[in-house]
Amino acid sequence: MASALHYQTIAGLSAQLAAGRLSSVELTRAVLARTEAVEGRIRAFNSRDEADALKQAADSDARRAAGRSRGPLEGIPVGLKDVIAVTDQPLTASSKMLANFISPYDATVTAKLKQAGAVLWGRLNLDEFAMGSSTENSAFGPTRNPWDLTRVPGGSSGGSAAALAAGTALATLGSDTGGSIRQPAALCGVVGLKPSYGLVSRYGLIAFASSLDQIGPFTRTVEDAAIMLGAIAGHDPLDSTSYRTDVPDYRTALAGKRGPWRIGIPKEYFGEGLDPEVGAAVEKAIAFYRSQNCEIKEVSLPHTQYCLDTYYIIATAEASSNLARFDGIRYGHRAADVTDVEDLYSRSRAEGFGAEVKRRIILGTYVLSSGYYDAYYLRAQKVRTLIRQDFLNAYQEVDALLTPTSPVPAFKLGEKSDPLAMYLCDIYTIGVNLAGLPAVSVPCGFTTGGLPIGLQLIGQPFRETELLAIARDYEQGHDWHTRVPSL
Ligand code: GLN
Repeated sequence: MASALHYQTIAGLSAQLAAGRLSSVELTRAVLARTEAVEGRIRAFNSRDEADALKQAADSDARRAAGRSRGPLEGIPVGLKDVIAVTDQPLTASSKMLANFISPYDATVTAKLKQAGAVLWGRLNLDEFAMGSSTENSAFGPTRNPWDLTRVPGGSSGGSAAALAAGTALATLGSDTGGSIRQPAALCGVVGLKPSYGLVSRYGLIAFASSLDQIGPFTRTVEDAAIMLGAIAGHDPLDSTSYRTDVPDYRTALAGKRGPWRIGIPKEYFGEGLDPEVGAAVEKAIAFYRSQNCEIKEVSLPHTQYCLDTYYIIATAEASSNLARFDGIRYGHRAADVTDVEDLYSRSRAEGFGAEVKRRIILGTYVLSSGYYDAYYLRAQKVRTLIRQDFLNAYQEVDALLTPTSPVPAFKLGEKSDPLAMYLCDIYTIGVNLAGLPAVSVPCGFTTGGLPIGLQLIGQPFRETELLAIARDYEQGHDWHTRVPSL
């Protein structure tokens, strides 16, 4: 099955397209047919427009025929998490609040993918407003894991991970605030890259926690992640946190980077709560790097134990402020038959938001309220600095850090009903967002029950090329990334 068009890589397909052995219309038709066949069981898409995709594909073929191909993404169907704006397309954040919203403009990443010639295909499901780790918080129902339909795909970008794993898109974009690209990538057996904070513009991404949010790609291989990153990265005057840095051709730069690397193993990331099969797979990955003459060094990130608390103060504070705009007047669902403006606000918000979103807004409002601001929010900001400093200290000695991505493989739908149990899914991913670092999850094995396991590599700020090269070296020594679920 792995040779079917819908399971090939961007790199491979773009070579076939360039050689005239395949057209974008043929490729897009193959992806549409695959979607028709399996989407009823996966439910990765919130909306999709077949006719529009085929029109984009025909336009791409026409450009290519005229000698105006725009590069490796020309004609490739790419899906977007349903928090990334596309002009005249629905944009729901998987919330009732935005169930009927149509975006009036393109996100910067959307505009960049269009400039790169990609065929934008479908709006992918997520936990409502990207709050969650299983995609079960979607107002439109959960997405299922293609490797086991009784299990979650992870979250919040579960639709983006599942669509790629099911072959219903050839690459997708997600957003990662505390792990929402890497964790679902791990649970669905694909590559997921969270770029350095500031490398990819957030303009047109529905904000959850603005100081933590980053957009990044899901792909089948590390090389494909480099191709996608190259298309979406770069300074953007429309995002005031966008960083002024040169964007290399990551794919070419990657090919020129070889180890051996110095790899740090943070001892705090191998403790209680780590599933033994996940731990064993990650140990094997460490042994692999050692066999490649890499220097493996135990390091310590002493403030790790504060990451979860710090995250849930900062992320909820920012969310409560960002979500204030959904008031039934400027945006979103508006309650019917209200008595006055106060009633309009409160009923629109009560009806429009789901339980987890309300929990976050209440927590965030509390930590920002007068009398608690210093004790919670301000203190969390200080601890955040210490957490970042831990990572920067470790990078005095090593090029990258290696950890499990998720402490557990894909769990059953409905299994984690306690919010705290769900929050613990992100213990290995959250520190990266607090510190603003790039990190990637790559497939590193399977449980005896056949569920994918992910390895996380964490890089230095804006050193994506080295990070991807380290991940590529692992990938080239293994064939996990070539396995596909039987659907
Ligand atoms: N699971 C984490 C949360 O619920 C992270 C989500 C994300 O990265 N968007 O906040």
